[in-house]
Amino acid sequence: MTGITKVAVLGTGVLGSQIAFQTAYSGFDVAVYDINDEILAKAKDRFADLAETYKKSGVVGAADGKAMDALGRIRYSSDLADAVTDADLVIEAIPEVLKLKQATYEKLGAVAPEKTIFATNSSTLLPSEMKAFTGRPQKFLALHFANQVWKFNTAEVMGTTDTDPAVFDAVVTFAGEIGMVPIPIHKEKAGYVLNSLLVPFLNAATELAAGGYADPKDVDNVWRIATGAPLGPFQIYDIIGLNTPYNILSHGDAHAQGLAVWLKENYIDKGKLGVASGEGFYTYSK
Ligand code: NAD
Repeated sequence: MTGITKVAVLGTGVLGSQIAFQTAYSGFDVAVYDINDEILAKAKDRFADLAETYKKSGVVGAADGKAMDALGRIRYSSDLADAVTDADLVIEAIPEVLKLKQATYEKLGAVAPEKTIFATNSSTLLPSEMKAFTGRPQKFLALHFANQVWKFNTAEVMGTTDTDPAVFDAVVTFAGEIGMVPIPIHKEKAGYVLNSLLVPFLNAATELAAGGYADPKDVDNVWRIATGAPLGPFQIYDIIGLNTPYNILSHGDAHAQGLAVWLKENYIDKGKLGVASGEGFYTYSK
């Protein structure tokens, strides 16, 4: 028993909508909050699309009404206090801008019940950069999902030195209850496990191709054939979309910036952004 039955999700974008839907799908009541009613109306469409995606992807039970039931467990609010009024857990998935997250935690800390646990889904920021703004550092930690939660179902749980171990354990258990494989991270690490491995891996692949050592498809061939991995780095690039790795590289050192220019000139400027645009390192049929 975690004591977590009611969940609120802040932000209804790519990840927030997936987290909220997956949580509702698992039987929890979920309130979703975003900055205005117009965005919340779009969120309704996003949830309807997710219900269809779950059915098409063959998620267990989705075609037997479970996806529709999940839609009925989602409540919408553009009033922060109302959204979190009885929440046991708030999962924050607002844009990756530190100042915006800090200001949001300040407002949230003032209106949420004392019992409420706060979790950030931030990919690149550390929870210790936000904890002072929550007013409850013992009840604050990171809960990091991967894009397409119904398929890539890891949930990395990472506290700060202030996080109460009982809170950490409750969130690990909750992550399991919503169908994730919880991954406890024992101390703060930028990038968690996933991005600590993935970012250097993708950078190494980019160096090989941008340096003219081997074509992207052959880099992928080596990786798949020699290790048995299902996907090569450039196939992974296409799934993530080229913009995010480009943004990470362009904020790096001079060498990384050179790799960013290669990605931009050869792919991004030509509209080759990955699976979502129909072409990246590979072409995709609709
Ligand atoms: P997104 O831009 O798709 O969605 C952000 C949402 O937050 C939008 O609906 C926006 O209207 C809303 N928002 C903006 N300001 C807000 C505020 N003050 N309060 C409440 N909502 C507000 O972003 P995303 O890709 O879903 O990313 C959200 C978070 O999830 C980020 O911290 C990101 O690092 C993390 N994340 C993203 C991915 C990914 O693949 N996209 C994967 C893992 C984690």
